[in-house]
Amino acid sequence: MAILVTGGAGYIGSHMVWTLLDAGEDVVVLDNLCTGHEWAIAGQAHFVRGDIDDPAIIERITNAHDIEAVIHFAGSVVVPESVADPIKYYRNNTCATLALVDHCLKAGINRLIFSSTAALYGAPEEAPVAEDTPLAPLSPYGTSKLMIEQMLRDIAATGALHYVALRYFNVAGADPHQRTGQSTDGATHLIKVACEAATGKRPGMSVFGTDYDTADGTALRDYIHVSDLVNAHYLALQHLRIKPESFTLNCGYGHGYSVYEVIDAVKRLSGNDFPIQLGQRRVGDSPRVIADNTAILEKLDWQPQYADLDLIVQHALDWEKHLAQRNMGAQEGVS
Ligand code: UDP
Repeated sequence: MAILVTGGAGYIGSHMVWTLLDAGEDVVVLDNLCTGHEWAIAGQAHFVRGDIDDPAIIERITNAHDIEAVIHFAGSVVVPESVADPIKYYRNNTCATLALVDHCLKAGINRLIFSSTAALYGAPEEAPVAEDTPLAPLSPYGTSKLMIEQMLRDIAATGALHYVALRYFNVAGADPHQRTGQSTDGATHLIKVACEAATGKRPGMSVFGTDYDTADGTALRDYIHVSDLVNAHYLALQHLRIKPESFTLNCGYGHGYSVYEVIDAVKRLSGNDFPIQLGQRRVGDSPRVIADNTAILEKLDWQPQYADLDLIVQHALDWEKHLAQRNMGAQEGVS
């Protein structure tokens, strides 16, 4: 039996692939490489290049492999881009997932783990925020994911599907063994941006908003190490193997750090100072987004290993340096 990982060449997906391989699982990756890199999984899994909504590809995969479950990461994830181009997000996320689920069910695959997001909560009034908080996404990205959650709920209600939707808070860090990490160009996420500034890939960075109602005036987020996140997926898979049910869980540590605290950690651990520009609040940003993680701790007996800002930042920095060397090597290879 094999696990199909869509988006398995991307940031979170590639960490998932390594975790599954480490556990001795057979893994098939489906990725169209629009943002991912095949080298992130180093030829260790069966790799198929293609789109998740292509019925011929799903048929090819299911004819060649006995797929027991799908872990579905593929999709578009940049919030400002979703505002500028909502059709792309409803097509690549909502419509493509519907097609994927339809084709998988027809092929007899009825277990799914889905990448959802804390963006569903919009600007939550409570911190921490629990799964039953009313959902109010602020971007087409968030809405495209909310629509998927609703579709999955309705399909599961017929008995055809068993799924776990995991709502990610702020994912960061990299594989402690440095086999993969966040490698997408044009990063916008805080820890990645700060690590790029610390390693000289960008001249400095901006702080978006210093007048929030928080201790230091900058916004608080629940940063979760990507390795802990993918472990939660593996636990969800093991749960579905035993119990055919469907549920949705927050994936975060339950405590937050400010933008200044993150930048201080990056400067301290890298030993490099870099210029900071104090800017306006970013449209749609919330003062604090922190997970209530009671449900995942109980339901999956999730035991995070890396719930420490310094560890997350250190692994992100290690990966940034690795990536710089890798890119330099590639350039030398060309010249
Ligand atoms: N942020 C910042 N400078 C940056 C990137 C992000 O000040 O270059 C802030 C952003 O305004 C938010 C926090 O860092 O308060 C986390 O933003 P990120 O984009 O990483 O994740 P989000 O919570 O928006 O999904």
